[in-house]
Parts: sequence; structure tokens; C-alpha cells
Amino acid sequence: RGGGEGRVAEPGFYNEGELVAVLTTQPLDRTLDYRAPEGGCFAGAYVEVPLGPRKVPGVVWGPGLGDFDISRVRSVIRVLDVAPMRAEMQEFLTRMAAYTLTPLPAVLRLATRAPGLGDPPSMRKVYRLGDGRPDRMTEARTRVLALLEDFGGLAFTLGELAEQAGVSSSVIKGLVAQGAVAEQDTPRDLPFPQLDPARPGKALTGDQATAAEALRGGLRAGGYGTTLLKGVTGSGKTEVYLEAVAECLRGGRQALVLLPEIALSAEFLTRVEARFGARPAEWHSGVTLTERRRVWKMIGQGGAQLVVGARSALFLPFRDLGLIVVDEEHDTSYKQEDGVLYNARDMAVLRASIAGARVVLASATPCLESWANAEAGKYDRLELTARFGAAVLPEMRAIDMRAERMQAGCWISPALRDAVRLRLARGEQALLFLNRRGYAPVTLCRACGQQVGCSQCDARMVEHRFLKRLMCHQCGETQPMPETCPSCGAEGRMAPVGPGVERMAEEAAACFPDARIAVLSSDLFSSARALKEGIEAIAGGGADIIIGTQLVAKGHNFPLLTLVGVIDADLGLQGSDLRAAERTFQLMRQVAGRAGRADKPGTALLQTFQPEHPVIRAILGGDEEAFWSAEAAQREAAGMPPYGRMAGIILSGSDSGAVFDLGNALARNDAPLRAVNAQVFGPAPAPIARIRGRHRVRLLVKAPKGVALQDALTRWLAPVRLKGDARLAVDIDPQSF
Ligand code: ADP
Ligand code: ZN
Repeated sequence: RGGGEGRVAEPGFYNEGELVAVLTTQPLDRTLDYRAPEGGCFAGAYVEVPLGPRKVPGVVWGPGLGDFDISRVRSVIRVLDVAPMRAEMQEFLTRMAAYTLTPLPAVLRLATRAPGLGDPPSMRKVYRLGDGRPDRMTEARTRVLALLEDFGGLAFTLGELAEQAGVSSSVIKGLVAQGAVAEQDTPRDLPFPQLDPARPGKALTGDQATAAEALRGGLRAGGYGTTLLKGVTGSGKTEVYLEAVAECLRGGRQALVLLPEIALSAEFLTRVEARFGARPAEWHSGVTLTERRRVWKMIGQGGAQLVVGARSALFLPFRDLGLIVVDEEHDTSYKQEDGVLYNARDMAVLRASIAGARVVLASATPCLESWANAEAGKYDRLELTARFGAAVLPEMRAIDMRAERMQAGCWISPALRDAVRLRLARGEQALLFLNRRGYAPVTLCRACGQQVGCSQCDARMVEHRFLKRLMCHQCGETQPMPETCPSCGAEGRMAPVGPGVERMAEEAAACFPDARIAVLSSDLFSSARALKEGIEAIAGGGADIIIGTQLVAKGHNFPLLTLVGVIDADLGLQGSDLRAAERTFQLMRQVAGRAGRADKPGTALLQTFQPEHPVIRAILGGDEEAFWSAEAAQREAAGMPPYGRMAGIILSGSDSGAVFDLGNALARNDAPLRAVNAQVFGPAPAPIARIRGRHRVRLLVKAPKGVALQDALTRWLAPVRLKGDARLAVDIDPQSF
């Protein structure tokens, strides 16, 4: 780039008037040229630029491209008061965009959705509970005070408090005037309390110590590397990776622990606090905007050493990232399925390889991809085979449903019922697991046999008796339970078919009238916080029988739980999806792993109609290596991931014919794919063929490992012109195939 005559050219600095390329979050497919503002700016600076009549935020991405009419290039309006984006983050976003075939601005939005932009004053007013009493109470005042009490000593900004309490700010000002709410000036963003890695951790067992030392060694050696930490539930994986975190902090670098959103429990934060003497920064959907701004800033300034977060924490502006832990690495919630389609596990590896950081992938049941990468030597592998202390792995047995005498409309077999009774008598907890939300998966008319479907989606309406409505699990539409059949008009003949967790609760209540029964299903809790509190109450002994969906499978300890009964172990095996076996295996092992921690041994009973199915046998027998090898061999023979590469192209639009035509045209014009020995399959209806009135078809592209799939896809898709409301999304490494 040419600086002006006589000016000192600092690397990465642009003097006033120089052309810079600015990437904005606007849906444009390129950067735009501007002139650097008065005082110049650094590469990576967050700026505000004019775009048409508007002002939009952006990032100085590099030198201007100079391909605009120079006389029309406008100036950057101002540089925002936040640290510039690091080159490392620019590289991460660029490579992520290239990998996921997403326009860079859409990826940039992920990294700037975090607040921190703008010019916040260094002090701000916050509000917390005061000592005074209001002269009179109104409903609005009560709400404000109750909220502040609920959150203990936590302070809110005026806007947050008004919004969360659902009152106008004048209500709060009124309470301030009377001293019932205290108004304080505080520095906007305080550093997080120091974590102390020198505090001693738990005394590790032999296996644990070996694994911890291997991870520490990796951190001391420095540079990028990924380790798969495999270990049965309760074997101490968390204790082991906390040692890696300690080593990372000792080296003065920052660490990130990613958890599936639901596992971000108070329990985990308490463990971190016990280990390091202070709580880490948190990053997930439940964190207030104010706190997010603080985390974002402090991460950039080094005022936060450890972040515990959900997948979007990957986009935080770490100053010196040394370690990323991906706990429960097989968890499907790491895949973001809308907007930018990415898998946080894979992006963690990418982020770390750019930052020269270590990655620990922890799981009792790793995904086949990670298992294969470890087999191939791309990842190191550490294994913990025994549960800690006296805890033994649950005994796992099948209940052969062909031999059980079942009453009509019941799903708990006599054998399972006896087992539950035994636990209740001992004062222990039992979990009945059924991965189906709602009351009944199907509602049909007994007169004509028609099932009630969603008018907008290719999905059945699911009865939620708790809400007294039918709900579509694709789009969330609800409708009242129909009295008359929507198809034939018959009166009072609508009937539920099959079990959901709410119906299981009914059956359990009838079987065990004295037991306290709790249902753990996402839609029975109004917020993530309510759900977490619900889980904690149950863990503390607040229920005798837990009826749960896959929510309960994820990283939470129920110390009193000694029996897991899987209502329908065959459920996941029915689909045609190649991952069905892997998923079922993972889910069943995870659920079973909830039983028998600490001192009481656990049992898992699987109700199945096919006890000799290879997957069921692998789950019961626990010869995991044999299972993985067999799965891997099948995938390899089919050229499927991780032995081949795969991408899904989802075409959607309100005109089904047009969407199919587009798909067919793409399938016909596949020369760019054939050039790299890639094949295209379809178009076929997507796994969900219609969502919110939009028809969806999918093409699957399969390519040998090692080909530049993204380049071929780009060439193939370049001529596509979308008409009307048609849309195209590329899903690299789709979850289902
Ligand atoms: P995982 O992450 O593999 O499920 P955890 O790390 O949560 O296993 O360990 C299971 C339980 O055993 C936890 O309560 C943990 O504190 C305890 N534990 C594991 N290892 C040790 C150890 N070496 N000393 C004391 N307690 C341990
Ligand atoms: Zn729907």
C-alpha cells in the first residue's frame, strides 16, 4: 500500500486519507473502500462508516482495494473505542467463512454480535436493592423489588431492570427517590477476580495423573495440538482437564471451556471456584448484555483468564488463548443449524491451530470423526477407563419387550416397574428416559384415521397436555386440541397415540401413587434459569422418579439416582440416517451413565423389542472399541465421513416446483463436481421437507477425502441465480446423511 510522501509507515497502521478496506456486517459480499479518518487507524480497528444514508459499524480489514471510483470514496466517520480486532481473529473468521462457504460479513456478525462496540462512558449508573421502604406498594413496584431480591446483590442498568421487571423506568426512579432502590455509579467494566492455579487440585488417581501430566506436557511444549480425552462418565475427565486449565493459567495464557448450553450449570461453576478460588467469566444466552460487554472487553484486555461458555464463546477476542476444552464433544448442540452452519468442535480446532493453542475434546462417547482422527494419529488420545472411587459403571441389561405382558396403553413393563419399586423402597431415585417431548407424538381421529399435521410444516402436531394445546416441534406453532376431526368432522373421536414424557408421568403416577414425580423436558420450563433450578432441585432429592428427555443425559450429576429405565431403546434405530447407530449408542450410554455415582451402584434397563440388534448389544456389552471399529468400517466402505467428505445443499422456497427445478438443474450441471470425483445425490425432500410453509429439498455431495471440496462447490454453485423467495444454504459436514 502506498502511504503518503514523507509519512512514517507503521506496520498495520493507516494514515489519514489512506485507502482502507472495511468489512461491515451488512449482507454485501465484499469489503468497501474508505479513507482512513483523521488521526489514522490500525488494521483491525472497529469503525463507523457511511453506507448510503446510514452509518454502519465495520472492521478495517486491510489496505483498500482501490477498485472504486476514487473520487467517490468516503471517509471513515470515527474509530470506536475498543481494541482493534487481532490479526488472529481476522484469519479465523476468514478461514471459517471459506470452510463453511458463508459470506464473510455473516461470519463477522458472529464475532461482533458481542457488544463492546460504541463509546461507552467509563462510569455507568447501576441499580440494586436499597435500604428504604416505599411509602406505598404498587404491582409494578413489587415486581422490581422482587426481581432485585431474587438476584441477590446483583446490579442492573436502568434499561435492563425496566425490561426484566416489565415496568417503565419512571417506576424505578420513583423507588430510587424513596431509597428502596439504590442508584450507584460504578466503573463500567471491572476485571474478573484472579483465578489461582497454584491452589492444589484433588489428589488424582494413577490414570488421572497420567492423563493430566500428558495434557500439562502439551501446554508446556506450546503450539497447537488436539487431544481426545475419552473416559466413562464419572471417571474424572473434568478433574483432569481442570489441571490442563491450571497449567494454561500458570503460563499466563487464557483458557476457554466450552459446554453444551444446558450443561452450563451452577454446579460446574462451583467446581471451578473450588479449584481456583474464584468464579470464571461466563458466556451464554442467559448472561445479561451488560455482563457480556464486560466479558468481551476483559477478554481483550486480559482481565479474564478463563471463560466458561457456549459455542459462541469461540468468537470472543482472546488476547492470548492457550487452551480450548470442548466438553461432551459429541454433543449435537455444538452444531449451529441456522444462519452460519458450523460445528463448534471443528471450529475450536481451527481457532486453536491459528492461535497456537491446545485443544482437549472430552467425552465418554466421542463422535466417530474424533475417534477416527485419534486412530489416524491426528489427535492424541488419553483414556480413563474406571469410574472414580467406589463408583462402578452401571450394570446394563435389556428388558425383552416381546416377553413382557403389557397392559394396553402402558409403556412401563412389569420388570421395569419392579425395579423402580425396589429403588423407591430404598429411598433412591429412578429415571425413566423417553426422548419425546409432550404428551403423545401422534393425535389421530378414530373415525377416519387421519393424523393432525402442522399446516406449515411436514410434521405431526404433538399434544402438550400441560399447555392444553397441540404443538409443531419444527416451527413452534400451537393450536387448541381439536374437538372435532379436522378431516372428517367426527365429534369427540380425537385420540392420543404413543407416549411422550407427559404421558409417562401420568402412567408413573398411576403405578407409583406415593412417589414424587418430576418431568424434565425443555418446554416445561419457562427459561434456561428455571430449567437449571429445576435440575438442581431434583439433584438435591426433590423427586423420587424423574421422567426425562435427552436433557437429562447431559453432564449433570444426580447423586441419588441408581436406576435408569429406558422406555424405548429402539426409538433412535428406526431412521435411515447413517448416524442413527452412533447417536443411539451415545445417547443410551450417556443416559445410563447418570445412574450410580458415588457410593451406590447403578443399573440401567433398556426396554427393547430387538435385544439382538448389534447396536443394542454394543450398548449392553460395552465393547466399545468393537462397536466403533464396525461403524468405522461401514462408513469407510461407503466413503462417508470421516473417510470421505460430504456437504448438503438445502434449497428452500414457497414454490415447491421451482425449488425442485433448481435442484434438478444443479444435479444436471455437475461438471465442476465430477472434475474432482465428487458425486451429487438428489434432489430429494430434505429431512424436514417443509418448515414454516417453505418447501425444502436437499442435494448431498460426496467427495473423496483430500479433495478441495469447497472450491469445487463454489465453482458449481457460482451460476445459481435465486428467484423469488428461493434460498440456498450450504451445510458442510451435515449432521444427518
Ligand atoms: P467426568 O467429567 O468424567 O464425568 P468428574 O470429573 O465429574 O467425571 O468426576 C466424577 C466425580 O468424581 C466428581 O464428583 C469428582 O469431583 C469426583 N472425582 C473424580 N476424580 C476425583 C479425585 N481424584 N479425587 C476426588 N474426587 C474425584
Ligand atoms: Zn410447523
